[in-house]
Parts: sequence; C-alpha cells; structure tokens
Amino acid sequence: MSAIDDLPPLREVIARHGLSARKALGQNFLLDLNLTARIARAAGDLSGADVLEVGPGPGGLTRGLLAEGARRVLAVEKDARCLPALEEIAAAYPGRLTVIHGDALEVDPLAHLSRPVKVVANLPYNVGTELLVRWLTPKVWPPFWDSLTLMFQREVAERIVAPPGSRTYGRLAVLAQWRAEARIVMQLPPAAFTPPPKVSSAVVRLEALPAPRYPADPAVLSRVVAMAFGQRRKMLRSALKGLGPDVGDLLSAAGIAPTARAEDIGLEAFCALARAVAARDRG
Ligand code: SAM
Repeated sequence: MSAIDDLPPLREVIARHGLSARKALGQNFLLDLNLTARIARAAGDLSGADVLEVGPGPGGLTRGLLAEGARRVLAVEKDARCLPALEEIAAAYPGRLTVIHGDALEVDPLAHLSRPVKVVANLPYNVGTELLVRWLTPKVWPPFWDSLTLMFQREVAERIVAPPGSRTYGRLAVLAQWRAEARIVMQLPPAAFTPPPKVSSAVVRLEALPAPRYPADPAVLSRVVAMAFGQRRKMLRSALKGLGPDVGDLLSAAGIAPTARAEDIGLEAFCALARAVAARDRG
C-alpha cells in the first residue's frame, strides 16, 4: 500500500513487471507518489476534467492524477511492457482510466476525450517539444485543451517562458506565449527520477487564452518568427531578407527598427509584422 492509494509501491510494481528503464524511450521514472500527486495538483482542480497523459510508464503520475480526483484519464503509452501495470491501476479506479497502446505522435486522442480537457505529462524528452508545438498550433483556437502541465528539461522549460531580451527567448516562447499563459510551477533535480537524467527538469503550466493576445495569421506569424530567429544574431533587415525586397517597409509598418535583432522583439511587434506581411501578400 502506498501513501496515496491502495496499490503497491512503484518499486515493487517495476520489479514485478520487469520494467527496466529504456533510454531509447526516454524512460526516467518518477517513483515518489507524493511528488506525482504534487504535479497532479499543479494542474489545478481535476475533478470535472478529462486528463490526457502521454507516456504513463509504470503509472506514478497516472496514480497521482486519479488520486487527486481526475474525472477520467486517457493514457497513451508506447511501451507494451507497461500495459499490465497500467491495467492494475485501471482495475483499482473502475471506469476512470483508459490506456491506449501506441505512439502519441500518431494516436488521435480527441475521440476519447470530453471537455474540459487538461493535458498532464512527464514527457519522453525525445518527443516532448514536438508534441508541445503540435498542441500550440491546432487548426482552430481555442484548442481541445484548457491547460498543459508538462515536465521538460529545465533548459526547454526556460525557453518556453522566456521574456524578450533574454538569452533563451526564441520561437518556442513566441509560440507558447502568444495564445497561452506560461509559467514554471516546479523544479526537479535529476535525483527525483529513476534512473536520474543528466540534467535538471521543470514542470511548465500553460493555460490557453480564449483568443490570441494580438491578432495575426498563425502561419504567417510562424514563418516570420522562424526566419527572424533562424539568424538571431543578425539585424532583422538581413535576417528577414527572405520576406522580399520590401523588408524595410514591412519592418517600418510594424514599428520595428531595421537594425533590431529578433531577441529584442516582443509579441506585439512580431504580430504587427505578421499582419504587415499578410496585408502585402493579399496585395
Ligand atoms: N510518466 C511516467 C513517470 O512519470 O514515471 C514515465 C515518464 S518517462 C519520462 C516517459 C514515458 O513515455 C515512458 O513510459 C515511455 O515509454 C513513454 N514514451 C516514449 N515515447 C513515447 C511515444 N512516442 N508515445 C507514447 N509514449 C511514449
């Protein structure tokens, strides 16, 4: 019996099911159920929400989410070895845990979820950023999720919440902060995981805003920002040459100095630039 439920401690579960961690699957497990319950609480009130969890592994965070009252948890796990352990959790919480065996980059979870939806995950680092970018760039806004509460390497977490002018400010910060409120809610040392990774980790919570902070076409904004940060040390009049020979006019229409660098440009100005580009392209 563990501190948060009647199931056995995770070390015992891992030993019984032979779940030795595999590096290729980004497996660094959280075995302290008080910690996983804290991460679940960082996602806010779960009682009226469906939770999408990617990469439940042996189920430490899954158990935290269920013990903290999630209405339903849909967990997508690629490693078939973890399924028997997850089925034991499903049996202890009848009707509240559904496990899908598959690759989160390929599975479409939407058919299984009812709003409001919160995404909570200790992500496999090799797919974490790609999943985040997908969740931040859906076809329609607001997205299917109300909030994302996600574990990242600390360096990636810092890039998500970075303000303009900082060393870590870039495409990920603009993408995340344009339509969501993003903050770091927990820091974890390597020793919190089994086996310990080389770097520290942090949990980021992103809350979807009902509408973007400033109007812009998502595809144009994404192109402009990728181009600007593609050569972040260059002045924007050269980094953005690919926008066309009128790059100076576009920057001036957006109120941006042609000698400025991408890392000094805030969200509002990037959106103004995206609108200027879209207006020019419309003719
Ligand atoms: N949530 C567990 C915990 O906190 O202890 C495990 C976290 S571990 C960092 C990442 C988990 O994601 C592993 O269980 C791994 O098998 C799984 N995983 C890796 N790639 C995946 C993918 N593409 N789709 C779904 N799960 C994946």
